[in-house]
Amino acid sequence: MENKILSIPFGMLIPMAFGKFYCHKCGERLKRNSVKRTVKPGDPDYFEYNKIGRGKVMIGDVEVTEYDLKCPNCGHCVGYDAQRIVAKIQKKLSKKILTDKELQEHTAEAKAKMARETAILSAVLAVVVLLAIFVLAYFGIGR
Ligand SMILES: [Zn+2]
Repeated sequence: MENKILSIPFGMLIPMAFGKFYCHKCGERLKRNSVKRTVKPGDPDYFEYNKIGRGKVMIGDVEVTEYDLKCPNCGHCVGYDAQRIVAKIQKKLSKKILTDKELQEHTAEAKAKMARETAILSAVLAVVVLLAIFVLAYFGIGR
């Protein structure tokens, strides 16, 4: 097959290196798990992958490799974004193994916290970019 796409969440590259994620069912460290599947023309998400070609139009099937996290001990599989929320709750309750009830109770709060952190990060980035433009405009164009 000619068309191959690697679909890996950006944030996954960093935390995985430090092994931050733990299974909430048994406490084992989660491993990165790759799932290969073929997306065919006509599939609902075909254009989602096809547009990554940037000007090149892919013809025919696209082989997509997606990543999620898998527990080597109990086989529990979880997506990266979902596990980020679980990790927040694990940290808050200071334990790795969580019950479904605990997950349910704390998910909304963990999501809100993640949204706040993302907003703060975006604001900081915006300020840095503005400062960079200001510095360039002041010292660069002035001469
Ligand atoms: Zn497990």
